[in-house]
Amino acid sequence: MGEEPRAYIGRFAPSPTGPLHAGSLVAALASWLDARAQGGQWLVRIEDIDTPRCVPGADALILQQLAACGLRPDAPPLYQSQRSSHYQAALDQLIAAQLAYPCACTRQDIARTLESRGMPRPRHGELVYPGTCRHGLQGRPARAWRFLTENTKPNRRPALIARSQAAPDSVADQILHWQDRRLGAQQQDVAQEVGDFVLKRADGLWAYQLAVVVDDGAQGITDIVRGEDLADNTARQILLQRALGLPLPRYLHTPLVLGVNGEKLSKQNGAQPLDTHAPLVCLGAAGRVLGLQIAAASTGDWLAHAVPQWAALYPA
Ligand code: GLU
Repeated sequence: MGEEPRAYIGRFAPSPTGPLHAGSLVAALASWLDARAQGGQWLVRIEDIDTPRCVPGADALILQQLAACGLRPDAPPLYQSQRSSHYQAALDQLIAAQLAYPCACTRQDIARTLESRGMPRPRHGELVYPGTCRHGLQGRPARAWRFLTENTKPNRRPALIARSQAAPDSVADQILHWQDRRLGAQQQDVAQEVGDFVLKRADGLWAYQLAVVVDDGAQGITDIVRGEDLADNTARQILLQRALGLPLPRYLHTPLVLGVNGEKLSKQNGAQPLDTHAPLVCLGAAGRVLGLQIAAASTGDWLAHAVPQWAALYPA
């Protein structure tokens, strides 16, 4: 017997590191359109956990820019900076299930271990964690907490020490498969390609992966619509959703706006703050990235025409 489908709740989750630009509006617009096309709610979550990167006032500016484009959340925004106790409770739950462990390694330790094993595998500039602290801290002080990526299928509670010598079940078992509404079938072997990832950082800050999963769960998010640059995080987030017993959302990753260097548009490669004095120009540009062709005289009109076009392009 299938479970009752949950009522659609979508979200846009900007990090307040600056005003919206052409790229971030694409994700905002796509998530709004999908929510409206499916008769659902649309929420905004301000992802201000990486406090050193946050710019004071950027949250208010983002909300103003969204409103100028006719995108208004259906509830007051949630701020991640106020949700530490929830992240701690989730971490405690993972520790109790032996799915999280303390790590003492610095970046240098990790690089040295990988080199000594002849496998310096940089992945998007990130090092695949070699699992050093799975077996204990060896008297070193804990700096961070990591998620144990192997053997985390539902209803499995691996004993951290006992399982460390065990052979993996099978390669297929370790590859996580998921379906993206735009990109199609996706897969990742998180243990191999990413390694045990950080949940709480050495500087005490919560990692994006944990915060996003806890909040998507708490807000009852059924559908995640966001930029394609984030698709690579999805497998990690699904592992965490399973480990925390949370329902799995559907995913749709949108095309990106590229900067002058061919990489995802960002402040570093030329993104200008969105000039929402001309909201129709902003919506038109974001819509074209999403494959929408709309002529309208007002933002309300533009959005009303965009919803059925979106629904036809990306059926539920
Ligand atoms: N806060 C993230 C960002 O701005 C987005 C998180 C998400 O949509 O999962 O890149």
